[in-house]
Amino acid sequence: MKHFSEKIIAWYDQNKRDLPWRNTKDAYLIWLSEIILQQTRVDQGMDYYLKFAKEFPTVKHLAKADNEKVMKLWQGLGYYSRARNLHTTAKIISEKYHGKFPDEYSDILSLKGVGNYTAAAIASFAFNKPYAVVDGNVYRVLARVFGIESPIDSTQGKKEFETLATELLDRKKPASHNQAIMELGALQCKPVNPDCSICALNTMCFAYSKKRINELPVKAKKTKVRNRYFNYIVLLHKGTVAINKRSEKDIWTNLYDFPLIETLVELAETDFLNSEEWKGFIKKNKYTIKSISTPYKHILSHQNIYARFWEIDCDKPFNKIIPKTAIVVKEKDIHKYAVPRLIENYLKKHMK
Ligand code: SF4
Repeated sequence: MKHFSEKIIAWYDQNKRDLPWRNTKDAYLIWLSEIILQQTRVDQGMDYYLKFAKEFPTVKHLAKADNEKVMKLWQGLGYYSRARNLHTTAKIISEKYHGKFPDEYSDILSLKGVGNYTAAAIASFAFNKPYAVVDGNVYRVLARVFGIESPIDSTQGKKEFETLATELLDRKKPASHNQAIMELGALQCKPVNPDCSICALNTMCFAYSKKRINELPVKAKKTKVRNRYFNYIVLLHKGTVAINKRSEKDIWTNLYDFPLIETLVELAETDFLNSEEWKGFIKKNKYTIKSISTPYKHILSHQNIYARFWEIDCDKPFNKIIPKTAIVVKEKDIHKYAVPRLIENYLKKHMK
């Protein structure tokens, strides 16, 4: 629908934010920004984007990088599998495509970590190809303007939104059209209390005229959140500390934390020290409890982590009791390792 596209592009030209990845047609940099922005707000993602773009100005630089360095730069962004995919994909582009980012939609879509949305974003922003983006912002705008009640998390709903987004796309200006609808969703058609009186689409908006803004878009399922209770054992001995490289199929794979005892419920201190898990861990070793931290609450998309850090002074080296995946490092060197944000927060307070 030309009318819709003209309105959003005119609004975008007046209101767009000046963001560094919008001033380039370099598919690598656009891809980098898209992967970073999948997990963070623009203001937070900006620093990460600038650091990555400076450190790895081309896909070949990223492909050649040490994995630990990539993970360290990613630290704090969460969803670490995306950093691993980013690195793997850079290597594939470097080898299979000789460092030149593919420009065919199907080739872009076949890259690891790239779904429909990211492929459409890269194809349109970098190569001006007519693929419509559909992300959370786009769902919201379309559901409200066109009064679509199909759940955005159902297969049928997704198809319906994709078909509509493709019909609406200005095929001559796919880059501007896509940027415009996403920006309108981000800045104007906000999830809660958008100021519809000043919106460029208010004369054609179903939700505004029917006063149904808070009901759209519709989601079918509620995300289930799991509570987990982590007891981190910070083993200290003569200026050294044991850190653990997470290797299981769980959160934070390949990042470092401390040896961990996870319990099903939060245990009081004496209950923890009397638990089979603790006794099995520490065995007959002598130790002193240096400190027990106050609980840290760390919220992930599907999990709430409640963590406590037990600082344990050992009178002997602890190599025999730490898991196989753990290593012993100097306390002052711990900052060199990539850690999840929860551990980073603890280190800031306790190991400066
Ligand atoms: S009029 Fe309101 S609900 Fe409709 S698109 Fe604009 S901001 Fe969103």
